[in-house]
Amino acid sequence: MLAESGGQILSGGTDFFPALGDRPAPDRVVDISGLAAIKGIAVEADHVRIGGLTTWSELVATPLPRCFDAVKSAAREIGGIQIQNRGTVAGNLCNASPAADGVPPLLALDAEIELVSSVGMRRVSLSDFIVGNRKTLRRPNEILANIIVPRTIEDAASAFLKLGARRYLVISIAMVAAIIKEDDNGKVAEARIAVGSCSAAAQRLPGLEKALAGVPARNGLGARGSLEQLAPLSPIDDVRATATYRNDAALTLIRRALNACVESH
Ligand SMILES: Cc1cc2nc3c(=O)[nH]c(=O)nc-3n(C[C@H](O)[C@H](O)[C@H](O)COP(=O)(O)OP(=O)(O)OC[C@H]3O[C@@H](n4cnc5c(N)ncnc54)[C@H](O)[C@@H]3O)c2cc1C
Repeated sequence: MLAESGGQILSGGTDFFPALGDRPAPDRVVDISGLAAIKGIAVEADHVRIGGLTTWSELVATPLPRCFDAVKSAAREIGGIQIQNRGTVAGNLCNASPAADGVPPLLALDAEIELVSSVGMRRVSLSDFIVGNRKTLRRPNEILANIIVPRTIEDAASAFLKLGARRYLVISIAMVAAIIKEDDNGKVAEARIAVGSCSAAAQRLPGLEKALAGVPARNGLGARGSLEQLAPLSPIDDVRATATYRNDAALTLIRRALNACVESH
């Protein structure tokens, strides 16, 4: 249908319908919610496959390795239970809001995206897939069929922290996902940190990740984070916060998330 006559994809509808406002739905809507082939989560030999129709509630309910704790924490903070029951992980990525809570933890997991159309399948990294505020590499005839997470860092500790104007049902002012893998000597073998709501698309912080490698993975790790390492971010002033406040909030969340990772060892 998408190849022949186009149309807008409808999945859980929790971004689709609010975005319409008072306008009627477009003429052609392609409801993909019956596609059994892209339902569910599967743990394969070298990756975890999150099907394109997986809801946030399904993700939370699925037993997954420790490095998925951050994405599960994000899932529990997306809207309320009703939204988590309908909204899908894929819908969050395709909508590509700078404040999409699913993006930072999946960036930290080095997730890849499988896009399927009538002519074939292609895989792109999530970091390449989202190119800006509500802009992705998805072509109009493609369905996000699977999110692929390589099984490279499974036993690593992970954390997700989000700041909004209130505790629940809130759009993020800043959010941070961190994954810390410890080596046998109690040092950081690998650090992955991603920040959302502080640039047009959420981003990893490679400078900070490099600075953390090899340092002792113990309480106080968060103090290694500094404002200079946030240079790749480009927060904006808007109704929710100023750019300066966002930077400050991101740094505080990074420090807390790093400490949470090492405290949970
Ligand atoms: C009250 C409320 C609170 C919310 N709170 C949060 C929050 O705290 N954090 C947060 O991040 N989000 C929040 N959201 C936004 C939303 O719930 C999530 O982004 C959700 O994951 C979207 O998934 P969906 O299946 O409902 O997407 P839909 O609304 O069905 O689709 C969203 C967009 O993605 C496209 N799309 C969907 N699935 C696919 C696919 N498989 N392949 C290709 N294109 C696709 C659609 O065409 C559409 O453009 C909230 C929404 C509401 C209404």
